[in-house]
Amino acid sequence: MADYDLIIVGGGIAGSALAQIMAAAGSSVLVLEASEVFEDRVRGEWIAPWGVKEVVRVGLYELLMGAGGHHVQTHVTYDESRSAEASEAEILPLSIFAEGIAGPLCLGHPRHCQTLMDAAVAAGARVVRGAQVSEIGAGAQPFAAWRDADGDHRATARLLVGADGRASFVRENLGVPLNQDPPHHMFAGLLVEGAEAWDATRQVIGAEGQFGFLAFPQGSGRVRLYGSYALDQRRRFSGADGTANFLAAFLAECAPANRILAEARPAGPLLSYFNNDAWTDQPFVEGAVLIGDAAGWNDPITGQGLSITYRDVRLVSEILRASSDWSAAALAPYGEERAERLRRLRFSAALTAALDAEFGPEAAERRRRHHERSAADPSLKAHAIAVMAGPEVLPPDVFTPEHWARVLEL
Ligand SMILES: Cc1cc2nc3c(=O)[nH]c(=O)nc-3n(C[C@H](O)[C@H](O)[C@H](O)COP(=O)(O)OP(=O)(O)OC[C@H]3O[C@@H](n4cnc5c(N)ncnc54)[C@H](O)[C@@H]3O)c2cc1C
Repeated sequence: MADYDLIIVGGGIAGSALAQIMAAAGSSVLVLEASEVFEDRVRGEWIAPWGVKEVVRVGLYELLMGAGGHHVQTHVTYDESRSAEASEAEILPLSIFAEGIAGPLCLGHPRHCQTLMDAAVAAGARVVRGAQVSEIGAGAQPFAAWRDADGDHRATARLLVGADGRASFVRENLGVPLNQDPPHHMFAGLLVEGAEAWDATRQVIGAEGQFGFLAFPQGSGRVRLYGSYALDQRRRFSGADGTANFLAAFLAECAPANRILAEARPAGPLLSYFNNDAWTDQPFVEGAVLIGDAAGWNDPITGQGLSITYRDVRLVSEILRASSDWSAAALAPYGEERAERLRRLRFSAALTAALDAEFGPEAAERRRRHHERSAADPSLKAHAIAVMAGPEVLPPDVFTPEHWARVLEL
């Protein structure tokens, strides 16, 4: 007999959501979370409409809305090749992508994690915070060993879950290989407050000069800002003036309302990342499964990580609840679906990055032509629909070199 049905390493979005669902379904669950407190690490705070649908399906939607979840309802794409009026004449309603879903859902990451963790505890899961996991094992007798404030511990389970993010200790120690694309661009993020004058129902993306800007309101004057820039400018926002320089980069002639964002107050750290894609060919072994970023991540340029994570949680929890067979063979459908899902999202993110996160005259001209051509032929934007409505809703021929060449005029 194992000590627990599930030991979950990592109590962020993936780990705590799975813990809540499985504990509520009657499983005994132990969550080992390294942090004592969830802090702003500049992670995802915008859930795509297809991801919101996953949140609804796993029964966590009301919980997230009760914690301050905020729906964004409209989108505007700005570009240096056209006036703000021209961009704003093409406002996109965001309720069109998933039936019954008002639009993307925004919620601060630390609050999101803590809300799920509290719900997991309320459902009966045991959570250890400040857990330093030192050893894990899978196979016939999965286990984890850890140190916390009370000393050294070891517990066994029927299944070990790696939900410990990008640098997953579990993935590494299981020997599951991680495939990675080279970084394509830099991506920095900052939460701001005091932006009450910003339309809280509207998200924007755009590009001007050497900077691609993205803004996602969270209500109550808070807005999550992200910016993309070239790899050879990696130190652009470092140093004492980094935050001020990042905010100043939002001042764009093509998007005058960005001034509200540039003048808002920083409400968290400014962190920057090398954006790339990473994936595992098989996110499970006998006795263990990986979910969320631990199983591989999508380039954050298209904001898919939370949606991917909630889909992972739904699929794995459905398999675990459907029968007592928790073998690697039983988890195979999850691995197959995830591989194709990530392949399609990788394609969409790479094409989006080629259009929105490359800079200089040639890239600006490519963007201008894409806006012009896709207005006449919306099929040139099909890959972008995948990130809003879900990668499975589009035909396979969208995710091919032919579509790539057609969009980029190669
Ligand atoms: C800059 C940036 C912007 C993003 N923007 C978006 C967005 O707008 N929309 C979106 O959907 N996604 C976005 N993402 C992706 C999204 O944040 C992730 O996909 C999501 O947080 C994954 O959740 P997770 O629970 O798998 O991992 P994490 O959120 O990383 O949580 C992992 C947890 O495991 C814990 N942990 C780690 N190691 C151990 C260990 N050894 N032992 C115990 N605990 C451990 C950590 O403390 C953490 O709590 C963004 C990512 C980045 C980097």
